[in-house]
Amino acid sequence: AEELKIAVGAMEISDKTVSDVMTKVHVRESEYGGGESYCNDVFMLPSDTTLNTKTVAEILRMGYTRIPVFESDRNNIVSLLFVKDLALLDPDDNFTVKTVCGYHEHALRFVLEDTPLRVMLEEFKKGEYHLAMVQRIVEKEGHDPLYEVVGVVTLEDIVEEILQAEIVDE
Ligand code: ADP
Repeated sequence: AEELKIAVGAMEISDKTVSDVMTKVHVRESEYGGGESYCNDVFMLPSDTTLNTKTVAEILRMGYTRIPVFESDRNNIVSLLFVKDLALLDPDDNFTVKTVCGYHEHALRFVLEDTPLRVMLEEFKKGEYHLAMVQRIVEKEGHDPLYEVVGVVTLEDIVEEILQAEIVDE
């Protein structure tokens, strides 16, 4: 019966998209009524952050494996910082996030929020990366379309969605 529930979960992902399971960068309140506000569910860092004892402690405290790094604005994600990259760092060197990211150059991938979950799962299964930045295309009359970063999605989010039928039942 467990296998059956997982199979049902797996079938249900077929009509869901990345935006259904991602961790959101911010909610545009206009969708829910009211003004625009940000809830920073995604932990990101400005690229000019100095990696001293204080900031490294803060990063470790957040508990994430991978952290999107932006330059000047949250829509401008330039790299991913892996927390394991901090292991050999000397906090007294005061390196910036940008410098550390420059050494490692982890794959940074973007997907659109309406990407079907099964497509995303196939992508993750290739194994090249397990976190993607999620973007939305914002059309404004008389302007080129803008790409807005709306969240992050990881393999874990999809696996959780597949297993959900089972978890809800118990
Ligand atoms: P981690 O190893 O960092 O816990 P997982 O891939 O196991 O990451 O994902 C666990 C959850 O954390 C998922 O819901 C994912 O969307 C979310 N997540 C991953 N990285 C971040 C981040 N930097 N900020 C906020 N949420 C994140």
